[in-house]
Amino acid sequence: MKNTPELRTWLDDLKLEHPVVIAGPCSAETEDQVLSIAHQLKDTDVSYLRAGIWKPRTRPGNFEGVGAIGLKWLKKAKEETGLKIATEVANRTHVEMALEHDVDMLWIGARSTVSPFIVQEIADALEGTDKFVLIKNPVNPDLSLWLGGIERLYKSNIKNLGVIHRGFSSYEKTKYRNIPEWQIAIELQNRFPDLPLICDPSHITGKRDMIFDVSQTALDLNYDGLMIETHMDPDNAWSDAAQQVTPESLVQIMKDLKIRKETDPEGEYTTKLGNLRAQIDVIDNTLIDLMGKRMKVADEIGQLKKDRNVAVLQTKRWNEILGKMILEGEHHGLSEEFVLRIFKAIHQESINHQEKILKK
Ligand code: PEP
Ligand code: MN
Repeated sequence: MKNTPELRTWLDDLKLEHPVVIAGPCSAETEDQVLSIAHQLKDTDVSYLRAGIWKPRTRPGNFEGVGAIGLKWLKKAKEETGLKIATEVANRTHVEMALEHDVDMLWIGARSTVSPFIVQEIADALEGTDKFVLIKNPVNPDLSLWLGGIERLYKSNIKNLGVIHRGFSSYEKTKYRNIPEWQIAIELQNRFPDLPLICDPSHITGKRDMIFDVSQTALDLNYDGLMIETHMDPDNAWSDAAQQVTPESLVQIMKDLKIRKETDPEGEYTTKLGNLRAQIDVIDNTLIDLMGKRMKVADEIGQLKKDRNVAVLQTKRWNEILGKMILEGEHHGLSEEFVLRIFKAIHQESINHQEKILKK
């Protein structure tokens, strides 16, 4: 796939001074709910009103969306407020119905991106459209699957393409609902710098009080926009209650976010520096996270050694690790001295952890 300048047109056409904002409820629930939220989002930074009509739920028995009737409510909201409208599509019928109701932006959900069959069916149904089509990352942290989805849409001659980063699921419980794995989105951005990249902090965090921070990180990484789930009564939302914000909070979030202008020539250095620093911050956080994980494993080894009454320090094993890491470091342009210093510090911390366990 080649990068074409057209890919950016839908963003350029909006001529926004700020990132594009897509907001609205996780799910359309009633006509009044959709209209009320739309009116509260009118005259804010929001350009697109989102609402899920068909909801892909992990387990059966949860609210699965109102279905096609919701499209009529969205259309009415558009007529009354002038907001453009966006919804998720997961098969050919959804696409056809969304197009009939003049939906402006269609997105492919994370659970659909994992299936090349579904993505292909949607791509075929959208062939040649000038609607905005955004593809969310797949639920699993697999960049090629995401790229494959983009390629399928691109081959269907869909020009107004974009991607949404909504984080990746993991078995392990973390503070996120879906771990951002920023480096995957950064990699995608490096490969396709012209493809508009939207962050969905709602599904990344799963919690409304974390949305601001994740949004700021996304903007620092030069994302082009945000998709934030917004509901007038979040606690009573029929889906994703914990992560939705009120329209007032959304306005506040947008006010508080620091937005770096890319167009200011004076600021080009600052923008680039800010972007690189944000990448460093992401990597540093990953390093700390990994160290924490390593020490947890060390604790388990400590417990095992305690049970078996074995000494903490195992010199042979340690020398093997060091030798391997020095070689590995060389491949990455790291000096032997640096690798030694880092690993000695890590080793010392492991020993401290294990001794604490032995002395318990
Ligand atoms: C959504 O946007 O409401 C949604 C279902 O998201 P995802 O596909 O990211 O889970
Ligand atoms: Mn949702």
